[in-house]
Amino acid sequence: MSDRRRDWREQLTTALVQAYDLIAVEALQVQAMMRRGHGRGRSAKAGLNRAIGEQGWSAFRRRLQEKASMCGVEVVEVDPAYTSQRCQQCGYTARDNRQSQAVFQCGSCGHTAHADQNAAQNILAAGLAVSGRGGGCTWAAGEPSTAWGVV
Ligand SMILES: [Zn+2]
Repeated sequence: MSDRRRDWREQLTTALVQAYDLIAVEALQVQAMMRRGHGRGRSAKAGLNRAIGEQGWSAFRRRLQEKASMCGVEVVEVDPAYTSQRCQQCGYTARDNRQSQAVFQCGSCGHTAHADQNAAQNILAAGLAVSGRGGGCTWAAGEPSTAWGVV
């Protein structure tokens, strides 16, 4: 059982560092955001967060970091404060922006989005700011039960 879990972790971390050139993760939460690099490797995206789960996260993070270092891929840890309350469009931050578990609606500019998607975009933006990179093709991952999508 633990062997199978380890095998899976090895395969997935390898696939991720091959597919992305920047991986931003929200500290302490099962939420991750990747930027796709080099136009390859879409296969790694499916069900990442769903598969990791709470328990496997710290081991996964550690192994991902080790492999990323070897391959020149950046893993950026982002402060989770306000990523779910901040408007990705205008920056307005308020608890009321988070209308429900699923719905984000900005009280300032009216921007609406899936709450997980809005948070994931904030995580990537913060990761890009830390790393000094920008642009490119992005993928977002929401909470464990949600599917991946192009941002
Ligand atoms: Zn706004």
